[in-house]
Amino acid sequence: MGEGSRLDSGEAFDAEEPILPRKAGPLAPGLYLVATPIGNLEDMTLRALRVLREADRIACEDTRQTQKLLNHFGIKTPTVSYHMHNEGSRAGELVEELKAGARIAVVSDAGTPGIADPGSQIAVAAIAAGVAVFPVPGANAAISALIASGLGTERFTFRGFLPSKAGARKSALEALARDGGTEIFYETPHRILEALADVEAVFGGAERVVLARELTKLHEEFLRGAVAEVRGQLAGRASVRGEMVLLLAPAAVSASGKTVGSIADEIAALVRAEGLSEMAALKRVAKERGLGKSEAYRELQREQGRRR
Ligand code: SAM
Repeated sequence: MGEGSRLDSGEAFDAEEPILPRKAGPLAPGLYLVATPIGNLEDMTLRALRVLREADRIACEDTRQTQKLLNHFGIKTPTVSYHMHNEGSRAGELVEELKAGARIAVVSDAGTPGIADPGSQIAVAAIAAGVAVFPVPGANAAISALIASGLGTERFTFRGFLPSKAGARKSALEALARDGGTEIFYETPHRILEALADVEAVFGGAERVVLARELTKLHEEFLRGAVAEVRGQLAGRASVRGEMVLLLAPAAVSASGKTVGSIADEIAALVRAEGLSEMAALKRVAKERGLGKSEAYRELQREQGRRR
């Protein structure tokens, strides 16, 4: 067994001799995309701390915001701004330094750079210049929301922010090519009620959603249920605050272009309403969705696996 397997081998954890990461060599030249916490400072990884400490420079979405984090951890590495408005030109300058052998870390205000945040342009430019690009994984709001949502995790699509204008948002929802996976959106507190109203208008009040708020923070909260209920619950509050992720439960688009929900629910409804056998109901649902019978059956089994 290699190093680091001490806990797995059943040996007692020795508080006198804490398990520390193996002493790594000096940081290799290259671009480091470093995730930082989305609310809870304990989500800073040991590797992120080492990379930020040892890098030549840290390119930050907001230098003042990152400075607070660096001060908290006693990190003195110089910072440079790298944000939405200078992403293109700054990426060029930083890549020149990288080509000369620099070690540059990129961080956003919170979470994983490049995910609804600056980071991807410099990664593309560094790769094109033949520079090594290293991910330093950590907190991310979409994945954190997904894993605790109770919705299917085997297939999902991250959609970033919905358009801010009402008409465009509704059109984006209408055009959503749902493929049986969970849909994940970032949303702001001042638009969430309108966004939920649009989800309701497009997919119906019974559409199953999860709203994950203030993840990893003191007031972390998950609202799960039909969109009409979740919207009612939020609308009843004196104010709607905090950062949030909206998830839609898996649904598919039928052959007729209609968004359809759970196969199991649909079969049960047909059995109840029309007295069909389960097999006849499965055939009907498969036909409506443009699926073969066995394909629909496999989808049903996947759904049941997710519900278990
Ligand atoms: N790069 C970040 C990540 O890895 O998650 C996302 C940055 S994006 C500009 C900010 C959005 O992410 C927020 O508007 C919210 O939708 C979501 N978000 C960030 N932190 C969150 C948190 N603690 N709880 C819920 N959502 C959060």
